[in-house]
Amino acid sequence: MNGAAAPGRAGAVVKANAYGHGVFPVVNRLIREGCRTFFVAYDHEGSELRPIAGSEIELYAFNGAGDVETDVRPVINTLEALRNWVNGGGGAYGLHIDTGMNRLGISYRDLSAAAELARQSPPALVMTHLACADEPDHSLNALQARRFSEMRSSIPAPGSLANSAGHWLGEAFASDISRPGIALYGGDSSPLRPSGLLPGMTLEAPILQVRACHPGETVGYGATARLETPRTLATVALGYGDGFPRSASNSGFAFLEDVRCPILGRVSMDLIILDVSAAGGLAKPGAMAEFIGARAPLEEQAACAGTLGYELVTGLGSRVERNWES
Ligand SMILES: *Cc1c(COP(=O)(O)O)cnc(C)c1O
Repeated sequence: MNGAAAPGRAGAVVKANAYGHGVFPVVNRLIREGCRTFFVAYDHEGSELRPIAGSEIELYAFNGAGDVETDVRPVINTLEALRNWVNGGGGAYGLHIDTGMNRLGISYRDLSAAAELARQSPPALVMTHLACADEPDHSLNALQARRFSEMRSSIPAPGSLANSAGHWLGEAFASDISRPGIALYGGDSSPLRPSGLLPGMTLEAPILQVRACHPGETVGYGATARLETPRTLATVALGYGDGFPRSASNSGFAFLEDVRCPILGRVSMDLIILDVSAAGGLAKPGAMAEFIGARAPLEEQAACAGTLGYELVTGLGSRVERNWES
């Protein structure tokens, strides 16, 4: 992502167990790739990383300081917290100004009060977060970029603006340290998303059983799918108990090698039924069906379940066995 963040550099957002991918292997790999700044949501997520992230690595916690003192830099989000931090002689910190999302951060209308306090003890990073980066034409993008540049003139510190989709919006969205998350893992629902983003995860599950079914028969709980023609069905060991969304019932898909096989019937807790009629001899017990990966794009699978790649990957549960290739 460093190329996309130029002339600044890319940090990496690794909150929520690196979006479900496993935070330790992800951070180890990114450190080897040269990443020096990591962002998490909670400071305890950051302190868990300290043993693998040497002291030269900067860790920031978006949600602010926790109850226990750590060497994770808090991102300060309210005037009161800023006053306490500055007056209490707290160490390095980030400062979040809300430029239009109304979620987290000091309100833009309190910018001068924040700047005044920050003068006593300048932040190591000043940031804001884009509300509509994955909708390039949304007017809020330009407004937030303009406010970001104003806040940088009143608070002299390295700036941080773009999340993943913000990288594709053009020069006005460049900053010193960007904050990509989902794009590191191969997601991103922006229409400007570059084609070269590789999937970070392959989610696959084995076929347990294959059966031939007749027209008029129904499939799964609630008999929500009825067969019109003779079909071959395969039952696969994955379900909502693994975090694969039930809302992908009768709409998601999996690949057996290059053959796309629709999900038929309801996703149940441990099992999914696929229509493997097109897959011929590939459909046999033990064969692996790919639900997310190079053939099964994360964002497309998520859309079938009525959600985004973010929710799909962070929702995968602990029952899913993780193997890492580094
Ligand atoms: C989660 C988060 C990001 C990363 O967003 P992506 O869309 O995954 O790139 C960046 N900044 C903040 C403040 C976040 O909460």
